[in-house]
Amino acid sequence: NYDHKGGTCKASERDIVLKSRSYSSPENKSSFQSPIDFQTHLLRYDSNLPPIQVQNYNLSTNEQLTLSNNGHSVQLSLPSHMYISSLPHRYSAAQLHFHWGSYNLLTGSEHTVNGKQFAGEMHVVHFNSDKYPNISMAVDKHDGLAVLGVFIEIGEFNPAFEKLFKYMNGIKYRDQKIQVPAFNIRALLPAHLDEYYRYDGSLTTPPCYPSVLWTVFRRPVTISRKQVFHKNRYFKSLYASYAQESATVPLHGNYRKPQLADNRVVLVSFKDGKLSLVCCLIVYNMARKPNEGLNLKCLNICCNA
Ligand SMILES: [Zn+2]
Repeated sequence: NYDHKGGTCKASERDIVLKSRSYSSPENKSSFQSPIDFQTHLLRYDSNLPPIQVQNYNLSTNEQLTLSNNGHSVQLSLPSHMYISSLPHRYSAAQLHFHWGSYNLLTGSEHTVNGKQFAGEMHVVHFNSDKYPNISMAVDKHDGLAVLGVFIEIGEFNPAFEKLFKYMNGIKYRDQKIQVPAFNIRALLPAHLDEYYRYDGSLTTPPCYPSVLWTVFRRPVTISRKQVFHKNRYFKSLYASYAQESATVPLHGNYRKPQLADNRVVLVSFKDGKLSLVCCLIVYNMARKPNEGLNLKCLNICCNA
């Protein structure tokens, strides 16, 4: 089985044979691994981070995209005329895929925020098309890839995600693929693309090359409980095993654990202010119960920590 959880970037013998790759290459042991936990003390506000701009994301429904189960995730191929225009190079799209949890399916994001894990995470993978002809050439270069990460949480029904999810029945087993009509991929991203975390990291699946310029949006998108738990559809009906195998292996829990930050700084495009959640609660309670007095010392500790 594929080891997403160990954080060691190891895979089974079978995966090594299948992909003819060495999973113990030196790159795996280097720093700059992903994902990481966005802890407040790692964050630095950078006023020079512009809003993310994406081009040609609104695809025509005449275009066909390949939706596949690769045994590790659900992946949608993307045409390279889609690109990010707000980075120092043009980064053209290649594919998007998902990470989600096990069993209860409610904790499966790869990046976390002060230890909080979201229900899932979508990665839109782009390669530096100014410097490299295709993603295969870019994947192991230090400036090769740019990934947009989107946290997914349970909430409102999401019609954009439904455009993908409704086809999952056709890719229940590993290596199954189907053609699906294209749609507006922008609708899968959060409404606002100006608030994000930015850092240098890696692929979160083998071979874990440290080649990714990460942009993880601060605001999650939502999918409804029904979209996740729909009987016989969606994430619960996916398998990491081949259709012809008698023993089925569910495809879930396909996230890697947070890796060491290793002196890395995470730039953020937003000002968080000094108010932590604890601080907000104290301020809220103070406003509600002014007669109980203010514990200013406590407030100072919380808000300036
Ligand atoms: Zn990913």
